[in-house]
Amino acid sequence: MHHEPQPGSFSGRPEIDRSTLRDLLLDSLPGDTVVWRHRLVAATPRPDGGWELTFHGGHRTGCYILVGADGARSVVRSLLTDVPLSGVATLAELNIGDVDRRHPDLAELVGPGNLWCVGVNQILAAQRLGDGSLRVGISLPADDRPIDAYRRKPALLDMFGGWDPRLTALIEAGDSAPTPRLIEAMPIGTRWSSRPGVTLIGDAAHLMPPVGEGANQAMLDAAELASRLVANPADPESAIRAYEEVMFTRIHPIAGMSARVQAMMLSPTAAEDIVRFFTARPAEPAPAD
Ligand SMILES: Cc1cc2nc3c(=O)[nH]c(=O)nc-3n(C[C@H](O)[C@H](O)[C@H](O)COP(=O)(O)OP(=O)(O)OC[C@H]3O[C@@H](n4cnc5c(N)ncnc54)[C@H](O)[C@@H]3O)c2cc1C
Repeated sequence: MHHEPQPGSFSGRPEIDRSTLRDLLLDSLPGDTVVWRHRLVAATPRPDGGWELTFHGGHRTGCYILVGADGARSVVRSLLTDVPLSGVATLAELNIGDVDRRHPDLAELVGPGNLWCVGVNQILAAQRLGDGSLRVGISLPADDRPIDAYRRKPALLDMFGGWDPRLTALIEAGDSAPTPRLIEAMPIGTRWSSRPGVTLIGDAAHLMPPVGEGANQAMLDAAELASRLVANPADPESAIRAYEEVMFTRIHPIAGMSARVQAMMLSPTAAEDIVRFFTARPAEPAPAD
């Protein structure tokens, strides 16, 4: 299946490189807003309200309202819920820099967007990034194999034995060894009882399979929480409660859809199912990178 957006239309699936988005957000803040190299290791309630924060290396500070935006393995999350994460896939990534010059054949194969090659319980994908590189991603079901089993190109090439060499060339051309990661998710429907002075946004609040929604929802969480806090500065507790209710209601169907798309993509009939998904329901969020 070949999908090309109409010129000037986002088709519901705009893309931006992660580093560009990060710079865009960081550059909109005063320079000293983000304090780098401070890994939170614990947050404990202060007797007079607010939180005592302890960072790796022993640095301490405090705050009145703690917003956990600390991603998939959030430390702040444990103040609100102890739901377990479960593995949903293994993703091994490779990068091919300066692809137009070094691998024009691969540049042409992938084109200006995404290429998805869907097999039986396995996917080989490549995405053009804004810096002229390709990011290659190999998705496989989460299994009991140690993650180190995916750290070598020959091991990945074995998993794609019998595939067209024009496709497996994407693995061979990787600039260095693959970086494998276990992709995890929180249970669909996760919610918690509101607690004064603390909440979560983004993956900390709703880690779900990466099918193209997580960053969007994280940004929407941030905007919604901020606007409620600003609108109600005298009562941050009710602003947090209102944000959480709206966020849970918004996220649960999206988490359900993400789990279904993830399961569909790594199934024995994935190729047919994905074509049907795109042709029958073109307005649904895409299984992105
Ligand atoms: C392979 C892959 C592809 C994806 N593709 C898409 C996509 O196409 N579209 C989309 O919308 N989403 C996508 N996602 C999901 C998206 O990346 C996440 O949902 C999004 O980054 C969540 O943003 P966040 O700010 O909550 O967490 P993160 O982006 O993970 O940011 C958390 C930040 O907190 C910091 N941090 C972590 N722990 C601590 C600590 N203890 N102390 C201090 N700081 C800490 C981290 O260093 C990091 O900077 C993808 C995810 C994966 C894994």
